[in-house]
Amino acid sequence: MLKLLPILLPVLYGLVLYHFSVWRTHRELDAQSTRLADPKLKALTDRMAAALDIAEIPVHIYEIDPVNGLAAPDGRIFITRGFYNEYRQGRVSAEELSSVIAHELGHVALGHARKRMIDFAGQNAMRTVLAMMISRLLPGIGVYIANILTRLVAAGLSRGDEYEADAYATALLIKSGIGAAPQKTLFGKLDALTKSRSGVMPAWLMSHPETQDRVAAIEKNEAKWVR
Ligand SMILES: [Zn+2]
Repeated sequence: MLKLLPILLPVLYGLVLYHFSVWRTHRELDAQSTRLADPKLKALTDRMAAALDIAEIPVHIYEIDPVNGLAAPDGRIFITRGFYNEYRQGRVSAEELSSVIAHELGHVALGHARKRMIDFAGQNAMRTVLAMMISRLLPGIGVYIANILTRLVAAGLSRGDEYEADAYATALLIKSGIGAAPQKTLFGKLDALTKSRSGVMPAWLMSHPETQDRVAAIEKNEAKWVR
């Protein structure tokens, strides 16, 4: 038991840290969000809700500038004010914005928030144990190398989530009669939309793996559904 302490303690610490960051995220979201009420978007999310056999898909506006969507750990779906403004100004269509909602719904449906909690605690333990081991061989830079390795693993894990959420969205958009086209055209605009803005992004906001790779994966999934 005592030998396991160096692994157990960072796992526990990671869990505490995770719960604290979830609490902080929810508090921030509660304080800075409103329910989205846009008839055109509502018509689209209602079609997705019907395809899922649920009453409705509530969407909230998160009052920050960067263009993004997010699924909170409690399952609520948010579109940033910056993203909504792009839609209001006609640079992003209602169908394209609904593809983001479908993607975030995928994160919720596939239980990515819960998985992230396990990832988070596991990464913390991995970082600590690696730092101890590598420091024995390379004193001084062990922590540095452990950080890089852990970050690589974390990036790989969250990249997988993005592809899964994309695949869920493609299926849902097709089933709702909206189609996967808006999901792909949005990716064409996404780089330009996000590059022109900057800001610190909360940990929950979606990360962006290579857009061409994501579009290619969507096309592959689309071919499975549309014949
Ligand atoms: Zn995502």
